[in-house]
Amino acid sequence: MQEQGFDLTASHEQADVIFINTCAIRDKAEQTIRKRLAQFNQVKNNKPGLIIGVLGCMAERLKTQLLEEEKIVDLVAGPDAYRDLPQLVQEVDEGHRAVNTFLSREETYADISPVRVHTNGVTAFISIMRGCDNMCSFCVVPFTRGRERSRDPHSIVKEAHVLFQQGYREVTLLGQNVDSYQWSPNTTLKGKAAIEKSGTTDIVNFAQLLSQVAQVHPDLRVRFSTSHPKDITDEVLYTMKAYDNICKYIHLPAQSGNTRILQHMNRTYDRNWYLQKILAIRHILGEGCGISSDMIAGFCSETEEEHQDTLSLMDVVQYDFAYMFYYSERPGTLAARRYEDDVPLAVKKRRLAEIIAKQRVHSLVQNKKNIGQQFQVLIEGPSKRSDEYLQGRNSANKVVIFPKKHYQKGQYVNVRITDCTAATLLGRVISCV
Ligand code: SAH
Ligand code: SF4
Repeated sequence: MQEQGFDLTASHEQADVIFINTCAIRDKAEQTIRKRLAQFNQVKNNKPGLIIGVLGCMAERLKTQLLEEEKIVDLVAGPDAYRDLPQLVQEVDEGHRAVNTFLSREETYADISPVRVHTNGVTAFISIMRGCDNMCSFCVVPFTRGRERSRDPHSIVKEAHVLFQQGYREVTLLGQNVDSYQWSPNTTLKGKAAIEKSGTTDIVNFAQLLSQVAQVHPDLRVRFSTSHPKDITDEVLYTMKAYDNICKYIHLPAQSGNTRILQHMNRTYDRNWYLQKILAIRHILGEGCGISSDMIAGFCSETEEEHQDTLSLMDVVQYDFAYMFYYSERPGTLAARRYEDDVPLAVKKRRLAEIIAKQRVHSLVQNKKNIGQQFQVLIEGPSKRSDEYLQGRNSANKVVIFPKKHYQKGQYVNVRITDCTAATLLGRVISCV
């Protein structure tokens, strides 16, 4: 877009083109986007030439609906169509229908370094793969993001290098299922077929990619998300252990603690398998490794006892943190087609409240264990509540708040923890690193 002469503006009232990047994971996300679109259409009433474009997963899911039936956008671009944006804008200008929801098997945007806006200049995300080949029955991602493809490791390492040179000190490698990252020169083949064609030496798996990024610089922290319980390997855990700058934190979504529900969700692991993975993490990386989860309350046919299994799994694991949702049926998914969304909303909400309440207790217990301990913290900027305080995170991904003094963002400091809430650790700096 910049090559075509476009530039960013801070206010949407000034814009000639507004792109709204969208999520389709739950109905609530889509409702939020609809409210934003209504606001932008108000602006458009006084500015008829304004182009409103919808990008990403909701665009992909609804295809032409927002443009042709609802007439609330001028342009529709799915997750694999961003290279086409200047062309699509031109098509709108010429009075044509501007829609591209083609899903690619190859597009990884490997050669495009994102322009980072609203950045703290310290931490950045790097996309390492796109799409998802799993078919969790509740999930819309395989339909909106398409097939899984891994990005060329050279371009990932290069992006990490450039970020480090620009002053960034932490990168998070992003993918829906990072453990199935696999790049081979023959990108169309996966697994065994790729090994036969390319030879094992040319293939890069996730553990190897992690190690390559960790070697960019010892002062560049590396995180990643999301790990899938069925795919995470001991090789990844040992790679984490081998590098001080790979953060000791794993987001390992369980979704449910009940084996029948997990089967119904098509997660392809059971409660015991999940707990074995937790044991492997504790065994290889120790108690200090942060672990978090995603949980879905009230999935189709979930009984009260099965919900109790989720609560008891939480008791066993003692997560540091969790993202928690009640089940939201997504059109087109396996669950929407095959299963009845039969847990009443009030029950879903009550079960979710119980899950959230339990997590709050666990977060507080886990944080209290840290009082008196000392952590290396990368400073990300002022704390949310006060400019007199700074905030950063420790390796286990816990937010740490401490008096500002002369310290600055981007610095590493050693902080001794003196107090905590369920959400944050509070402390004071002992020394610079
Ligand atoms: N790839 C990641 C998840 C990405 S979606 C993984 O497999 O763990 C992020 C989270 O949204 C999921 O982990 C799940 O907990 C939640 N989610 C996805 N679809 C949902 C739905 N239909 N209703 C409620 N929560 C959902
Ligand atoms: Fe969705 Fe499952 Fe893929 Fe995660 S692994 S994105 S939940 S289909």
